[in-house]
Amino acid sequence: MEVVLSSSLDQQLHAQLIKNELPSLLSSAALLRSHSISRQIHALTVKTVSSSCNLLHNSLLRLYSTSSQFPSALKLFDTIPHSHRDAVTWTLLISAATESNRPSLALRIFDSMQAQHGGVLPNAATLLSVLRACAVIGFPSAVRRAHVVATRLGLASEPSVLTALIDAYSKCGRLNLAERLFNKHIASTNETDVFSTTAFIAGLASHGRSAEALRLFYELVESGAKPDGRTVTAALSACRSSGMVCEGYRIFNSCTSKFGVERRIEHYGCMVDLLARAGRLDEAEEFVRGMPFEPDPVMWRNLVWASNLHKDIDRAKRLIKERPSLLLEEDGGSYVLIGNVYASAENWEEKARIRRRMTTGKVPGCSRIEVKGIVHEFEAGDSKHPEGASIYRKWEEVMEELRTEGHVPRLSEVLLDVEDEGEKALQLQHHSEKLAVAFGLISTRPGEDILVVKNLRACEDCHDAMKLLSRIHGRKIVIRDRIRFHHFSNGACSCRDYW
Ligand SMILES: [Zn+2]
Ligand SMILES: [Zn+2]
Repeated sequence: MEVVLSSSLDQQLHAQLIKNELPSLLSSAALLRSHSISRQIHALTVKTVSSSCNLLHNSLLRLYSTSSQFPSALKLFDTIPHSHRDAVTWTLLISAATESNRPSLALRIFDSMQAQHGGVLPNAATLLSVLRACAVIGFPSAVRRAHVVATRLGLASEPSVLTALIDAYSKCGRLNLAERLFNKHIASTNETDVFSTTAFIAGLASHGRSAEALRLFYELVESGAKPDGRTVTAALSACRSSGMVCEGYRIFNSCTSKFGVERRIEHYGCMVDLLARAGRLDEAEEFVRGMPFEPDPVMWRNLVWASNLHKDIDRAKRLIKERPSLLLEEDGGSYVLIGNVYASAENWEEKARIRRRMTTGKVPGCSRIEVKGIVHEFEAGDSKHPEGASIYRKWEEVMEELRTEGHVPRLSEVLLDVEDEGEKALQLQHHSEKLAVAFGLISTRPGEDILVVKNLRACEDCHDAMKLLSRIHGRKIVIRDRIRFHHFSNGACSCRDYW
């Protein structure tokens, strides 16, 4: 479709322009998500049409925001006079920032929107974009600010905003606030709403409260409300969180017949992860090979990860060799994973090759923590933080406490093929979440909860250390990894060591 449009773009565009249908043409082009088409249409629009039309500005911005071209969206936004920037204009820029993985910038744009030239009032769509950015960042203070704005504007109980608030609070570690909003909504409307219920089921699942998530799912089904694809994904993730294979099969098999939901790739993805994590690797692999979709990188990586976890190294190596592109194009996490597979296989040559690729630009892991409204980011072995020396000193103290309590470092989690055991232990101590927690310990009050957001799965050594640490220091430590939340308290984790 893209090729056809490009080849006859000029003629088609002129014809449309003559009919004054540029805004609708722009909307159609936005669906194509093509950078080159966006630029061509932008250039032609600028040449042909007066620059003072709000509808056209917004249509052009939509074009850039849907095709994740934030720099172009920002450039265009800067040319729009202040008086012409309405709520739609600002919302599109916020959405463009979020879509192009700049959630913090999206929040700063939201602040500017309300501050500049008397401010522009956000609408429900603005709040949805902002709350999406909040959910990516993972810290509750921004959600609270957006919630206050929504309440002030009378939009907090608007169904789409309420659903986004439940989702954002859950993803920012505040499931209790999500629950309060959800219960209040149910009590006030007395009817089942699929969207907010789905958001809350997903929240319960990611925090490991699988039984409650499934109870709510079946209540929804029995109420006669029709679940959608996302509801089924949320229910399957609840099964995944607690290794409930039979329940997962039951839901997956009833997807079309009982719930009227067509199976999508994410449903297959949940099943593959559920089976693989439970050690049913043959079934998981059959699922991937038998499904009517091409496997995606997340699915493939989960399969390799579980093969490594269950010590089926031959399978892991075979899967890596079969689809290396699915793993290596995705992110640094896959490099860590492949490195670990080759370490398990004691193939140091391959591991060194992966290590070289890792050092050429990919960031393997990072953890963030918010203290007094400022987000601090740590990479493994990081020395960039201004309080680096105190942070490392603190973690050394913690390590001493952990050792006294019987913690034995899991050296198998060290990625690099380091010969020296002491060096291995040192590598392990400097994983990003440990540095973030050490910073949390020196910069918050004793007893205060610590929330860390990490971009990869937690490793076993960090998991062991956090459990013990929560008991020694009498603190709740919450870590959101790429799969789920871990709530460490009094020596145990909410995931019951299953993740
Ligand atoms: Zn770790
Ligand atoms: Zn855990």
